[in-house]
Amino acid sequence: GKSPHQPLMETELEASRSSPERVKAYVGLGSNLNDPETRLKQAFEALDRIPRTRCLERSRIYQSRPVGPPDQPDYLNAVALLSTQLDAHRLLAELQHIERAQGRVRNRRWGPRTLDLDLLLFADLMIETPDLVVPHAAMHQRLFVLLPLADISPELRIPGLGKLQDLIKACSDQGVRLLD
Ligand code: AMP
Repeated sequence: GKSPHQPLMETELEASRSSPERVKAYVGLGSNLNDPETRLKQAFEALDRIPRTRCLERSRIYQSRPVGPPDQPDYLNAVALLSTQLDAHRLLAELQHIERAQGRVRNRRWGPRTLDLDLLLFADLMIETPDLVVPHAAMHQRLFVLLPLADISPELRIPGLGKLQDLIKACSDQGVRLLD
């Protein structure tokens, strides 16, 4: 440890002041183009490289029929649990940067895409701003989000939406299966 008589350097003082709290955030990953399994694995690695952020856990990978136009390949979906010192808006910007870096293709609404990253949950916060809504708006109705979330945190409660397990029961008729 440091001697109590030794004054802190200016930079150390700064660091101790600005060291923000670490919080947990869940990110949903989806891909249905350009070798989706590889896209998801690279996305997990990219999430771990976000500044001030660690990827603590990865769910298994699930396969589902697309929401929207049916004439496109199945989706692969997964969820990552992050620990981060970024605020929610900064984290969203980093997710969008990773999407662009993986050469996202998006020609029509709900059309095929190489990588989609959604900020599902951020600490236990509820956020409603023009560019960011947390918990993510449609997550509670999508089994392809809820099942991988339950891989990581089966006992999770979702702010404003209740128990994860109850949400899963309510949409258990959706065709989602583990990637074999
Ligand atoms: P999409 O590509 O369909 O997921 O939509 C991306 C848009 O949704 C972006 O313009 C974001 O600003 C907005 N958005 C709002 N809330 C979220 C969220 N929780 N995670 C990701 N994007 C969000």
